[in-house]
Amino acid sequence: MGGFSYKDIYVEDGRRVLEVDILPEKYCNFDCIFCPIGRSHNKVDTQRPFDKIISSMIELENMIENTNAELIFINSKGEALINDKIDDIIDLIKVKGLPIRLLSNGYLLGRDEYIKIANKCDEVVGEIKVITEKDFQKVQRPIERYTLLEYISNMVSFNKQYKGIFIFEITILNGYNDDEESIEKIKNIIEMISPNKIIITRMEDERFKKKLGITDERFEEVSNALLKGIV
Ligand code: SF4
Repeated sequence: MGGFSYKDIYVEDGRRVLEVDILPEKYCNFDCIFCPIGRSHNKVDTQRPFDKIISSMIELENMIENTNAELIFINSKGEALINDKIDDIIDLIKVKGLPIRLLSNGYLLGRDEYIKIANKCDEVVGEIKVITEKDFQKVQRPIERYTLLEYISNMVSFNKQYKGIFIFEITILNGYNDDEESIEKIKNIIEMISPNKIIITRMEDERFKKKLGITDERFEEVSNALLKGIV
């Protein structure tokens, strides 16, 4: 078991983006009920080794060269920070002179060892999906003792010291964060985190769309309300 996997290269804002998944299967500190990858059998927040790391890194080096990538997006099945070689992977990409975007759900950005790693990336993506402590526990099912308050404060403190581009991704979920009170709360969180870029999205996965999806009209309303006065 092991190895990295890749998405087909694509162009975003004129840059060729190579997405690499550095986890062999799902490892996450959350176990969201709507996770597109499925259940978390490995609910973890400490780093661990994975097989085939040397051959995977050689393959990554070749992929970078063969695809003429201009941005490497580390987007993994879960929380990429728990790969104990992520620091070396980042260094390898940096030696190639390429910028890095790292996707994290954002919780671990409050821990020193992970802050150091994330700081080496040019762009870091953090997320939010629900807006109350009860919903966080119920639908994101994090590791025991995690709290929504700490989740948000981890991203706030991370971005206070981060010099790169912090991208904050907000997923609007029917019945969880699409009412007026939630919109106000999210606006406050945006203000606290002060991201460089905001991405507002909604549930697109067909398996969960019926329950958690929202209409185009409502999505537009919520997006406009969230961005009002911000952009
Ligand atoms: S944070 Fe993302 S990867 Fe982790 S369980 Fe939730 S949806 Fe899945």
